Parts: sequence; C-alpha cells; structure tokens
Amino acid sequence: MNQRAYLDHNATSPLRPEVREAVLAAMALEGNPSSVHAEGRAARQVVEEARIKVAGLVGARPEDVIFTSGGTEANGLALAPPPGGDTWHVYFSAIEHPSVLAGGRFADDAKTVVPVSADGVVELDSLARAIEKGSSSGARPFVSLMAANNETGALQPVAGAADIVRETGGILHTDAVQMAGRLPIDMSSLGADMVTVSAHKIGGPKGIGALVLAEGANVRPLMTGGGQEGRRRPGTENVAGIAGFGAAAELAIRELRQMDALARLRDKLEAGVQAIAGDAVVFSKAVPRLPNTSSIAVPGLKAETLVIGLDLAGVAVSAGSACSSGKVETSHVLAAMGAAPETARAAIRLSLGFGNGDHDIQSFLGAFGGLVKRLRKDAREAA
Ligand code: PLP
Repeated sequence: MNQRAYLDHNATSPLRPEVREAVLAAMALEGNPSSVHAEGRAARQVVEEARIKVAGLVGARPEDVIFTSGGTEANGLALAPPPGGDTWHVYFSAIEHPSVLAGGRFADDAKTVVPVSADGVVELDSLARAIEKGSSSGARPFVSLMAANNETGALQPVAGAADIVRETGGILHTDAVQMAGRLPIDMSSLGADMVTVSAHKIGGPKGIGALVLAEGANVRPLMTGGGQEGRRRPGTENVAGIAGFGAAAELAIRELRQMDALARLRDKLEAGVQAIAGDAVVFSKAVPRLPNTSSIAVPGLKAETLVIGLDLAGVAVSAGSACSSGKVETSHVLAAMGAAPETARAAIRLSLGFGNGDHDIQSFLGAFGGLVKRLRKDAREAA
C-alpha cells in the first residue's frame, strides 16, 4: 500500500511513539495525584516531571505552568480582567485563533480588534494608537497577540508589543500554540506575562495544554472548587495527557535544530507549486514565517476541490483553517489581510512536521500538478 503524505501538522501533529509510551505508562498508575499515599505520590511525580519539561518549552518556572484541557481553554483562562479592582480593556489582532477572538471574559465594549498588514503581521503603530485611545477612560490594556499565525505561519512582533504594553502599565498574553516546537520560545525575552501552549501540535496527545505565567503574574480561574494547579485550574489532573505533553515537550526542544531542514523542504514545496502554477500566491512569503507552514492559493481553483482531490490521492492538507464544525468557512485571517474573497476561498494550508521528507513533497507535487491540470482543462471546456 502506498504511504499517505500527512501535511497538516498545524491541525494536529501525529502522536510520537515515545509520547504514546509515556501516556500508556501513566494510564497504568492507580493513584490520584492529590492523594498522600504511595499510589498518589507516584501519579504526582509523573505530573511534576512533565511540568518541568513543559516549563522548559517556553523558558518558564515549573510552578508557573497551569495545565488545561488544551490551547482553547488556556486562551479562555488567560483572557479575563486580572484579579484586583482596576478596569481593563482587551486588544487582540484580527488574525487570532477563535478562542482569543471571542474575547474571553471581557465585556463587548472593552474589546478592540487590531488590524494586520497585507502580509498578515499586526501593525504595532495601530496597536499603540488603539491603546492610547482605549486608555483615555482609565482602563489598563490587556493585549493578546499570537506568536505565529496558524494559517500563514507569519511571526508576530510580540517583543515589540511587550514594549508598548510595559509603557502603558498593561499585561501581554501570547498564544504560542503554533510556535512551540518550531522555533525557540523564551517568555522573558518575549516579554509576555502569559503564554498558551498545546500538546497536540507538537506530537503530544489531544486535549491537554497549558497556560504558562511569568513570575508574579496571576489569572482569574475559569472554575472554582478545587485546589489543583495552585487553585488556578481545579479538577483532578489529566495525568496521562500531562505525561504525554511532557514527553512531547522534551522531544520538541531536542529537535528544534531540525527546523532548518524542514524550512528547506517547505521552500522546495513552494518552488514546486510555483513551477506548476506560475500564478500561485504564497501568503506572507515576504515576512518571517514558521519554518513548516505554507498557505497557497491558485486563482480560479476552489480549496475544497483541491483538499478532496489531494485526499483521494493520499495527501492530507487543509483548506484555510476553520473547519472545526466540519464545514469550510472563509478564512478570517486571509480576509483580515485584505485577500479577495475568491483568492481566500482558493487557499490551502500545508504544514510540515516530524516524519515528513522529500517523498511527501514529491507525492504532494505529483497529485497537485495532476489536479491543477485537470481542473484548468475542465474550466476551459466549460467556458
Ligand atoms: N491557538 C492556535 C493558534 C491554534 O492553532 C489552535 C489550534 O488549532 C489553538 C489555539 C487551540 O488549541 P487546542 O486545539 O489545544 O484547543
């Protein structure tokens, strides 16, 4: 049987065998990590060892890692007016993940969306201006800016945003779900007060993530009624998921140096696409991007048709990004970049990761070349 080519690591990156081992070993543990007996202590040890590894992924202290059910929950936990009596206003970019765009627990009139450039990068001048305007009422700024976009891979100026936030007495949260494991992350050089990460984008299990705090930062819990995770996220810990996250984080840190090779593979893929369709558009190509991500549109072709055709040919890619409800919606990211609706509807996302090699690029280009030729011929005949 022919091997499938999986090029959708930004949706989820397949579970690594070492992670599976760690998950299975943790599932065999009998105790509750909050119990004081030997069984409980064994489970606690697994959780705390994983906490150290996840902290290492972002350069934080283990005690500042709050395990959650994933990136979505971590964003929801972060996005709230911090404890205390001050009033706050939230600012986020137009290209954030929907879990940030929803605005968390801020009131609708305390939310401002900051635009991005045609290359999909947030404009710091716009952020500064928005904060100046919003602060006139006395509200302190809470800024949420993703580290790298999930569709285009475009890196965002998080450290620059941190400077603006510091000057205005604010707080900065960054969703680093897509940057983790692809580029090094250091919370203090980013200047972020809170960072979101998720295990399944780095070869860990689905349904486990973390919000990591800078020293001294605080959050308003989403739920109350239990002392776990320093009272910041109550409920018995997902011991197996956490163990898997720890194993995945350890692998991701070790393999960061392989990202240059992945970038070369991505460049080869884009060059191949442009050889097949000279009019293909590669979004955010002019700005620094993640090494693994490529968002491509061939004018006149529909993303759904390409995704289905590629799937039948054994290649897994995604259309735009939003398909959580099973239907493809026009990308809010490409719309915010000012892409014409028909170009946005043509966009497919290719995201590489562990295990991908030349053979996957060849499989993709072979299938893509055939599809483009056939679809263009059909279009000519129908005209
Ligand atoms: N943030 C970004 C940038 C993402 O790409 C995703 C997943 O697609 C999430 C957050 C949500 O993470 P999770 O699937 O763990 O809830």
